[in-house]
Amino acid sequence: MRQIVELHVDAKAIKDLTNGYPLILKDAIATTEVSIEEGSILHLVDKNGGYIATGYYGAQNKGIGWVLTRKEKEKIDVKFFAKKIREAAEKRANFFASEDTTAFRVFNGEGDGIGGLTIDFFNGFYMVSWYSEGIYSFRDEVYEALNETLNTRGVYEKLRFNTNGQYIEQDDFVSGEKGEFPLIVQENGMNYAVDLNDGAMTGIFLDQRNVRKTLRDNYSMDKTVLNTFSYTGAFSVAAAMGGAAGTTSVDLAKRSLAKTIEQFAVNGIDYESQDIKVMNVFDYFNYAARKGLKFDVVVLDPPSFARTKKMTFSTAKDYPKLLMDALAITNDKGIIVASTNNASFNLKKFNGFIEKAFAESNKKYKILEQHQLPEDFTIPHNFPEFNYLKVVIIQVL
Ligand code: SAH
Repeated sequence: MRQIVELHVDAKAIKDLTNGYPLILKDAIATTEVSIEEGSILHLVDKNGGYIATGYYGAQNKGIGWVLTRKEKEKIDVKFFAKKIREAAEKRANFFASEDTTAFRVFNGEGDGIGGLTIDFFNGFYMVSWYSEGIYSFRDEVYEALNETLNTRGVYEKLRFNTNGQYIEQDDFVSGEKGEFPLIVQENGMNYAVDLNDGAMTGIFLDQRNVRKTLRDNYSMDKTVLNTFSYTGAFSVAAAMGGAAGTTSVDLAKRSLAKTIEQFAVNGIDYESQDIKVMNVFDYFNYAARKGLKFDVVVLDPPSFARTKKMTFSTAKDYPKLLMDALAITNDKGIIVASTNNASFNLKKFNGFIEKAFAESNKKYKILEQHQLPEDFTIPHNFPEFNYLKVVIIQVL
């Protein structure tokens, strides 16, 4: 039996929760220490026992659970999950109908009313990511709801229960048809190879779709493009498809080489005409400076935090320095695509990093475009802090 726990909410937090704030923060709970099982239903009440919202308990790095409904009588069952999934799918009708984009996010956690759960679509296959044991305790109900609501060819899942969101290794196949990987998906007419059963990542970060498109359509023709922290080279493919004079992809993960060759190959691009380097980006900056190499376009999309044997890199601390390194090998009038998915600072602060880096490099710049999450990555109304992606396209003057 699922535990039901009544929790008193702190007066301060009531206002946010009533306005639609979806996250249940540990600090918001006035009830003194009780032991709660993952997946318990939480009845949030004020100090007089007045109903505020219903949620579930699931420990994540950012909170202890998520609000599911503000209707006191609503039950958290298959019908509830089916309604949420149906509403989310209806919002993505244009994506489902698209012929040149066959990979997108169908359900974006708190933005679609269930924090801790995301569902992505890859050409008929569905990838469900679970961010706590609490939400995973609803697995049977959610899968039943998913299969009755959408036409699923096959279902895969990722378990990211560790409170830092780290992936748990397992066979990720759940049900239906098994995919043949690499599975080829389309994005604005480009092909991308994905694998839904090969560790934490699939081969493509869907939230950068609009950035790849603008890189291809507006910044690549006849340009030399450096793609740092390139992973499978998704930005390099976009640049090459946009007519780049050449691309250079740099990532220190050994498997990035084969994955990047594959992404070029599925687009009919001869990978030998492109440069793919398995190396530390910071070593590459030194190498390029020594050789006098400069680029027309530099893409910066580092992980929020990275540790190698020699150094640690944190976007919150080191982004200005990263920009200065990039600036040193960017041509005059060149373009820097500066991206970060670090949720701990906002776009304003990120723009501050950019200002700082240019000031210290004695250079002027113009911001040409700013991107945050695309429309399929829905975020809760009134709470822009859930919009973690920040991409600024900068022209060096
Ligand atoms: N920009 C990519 C996603 C980057 S994921 C895309 O759009 O698909 C982060 C990548 O950074 C990982 O592939 C990881 O191997 C790489 N990485 C982390 N630290 C690095 C470093 N110091 N030098 C080079 N690559 C690094």
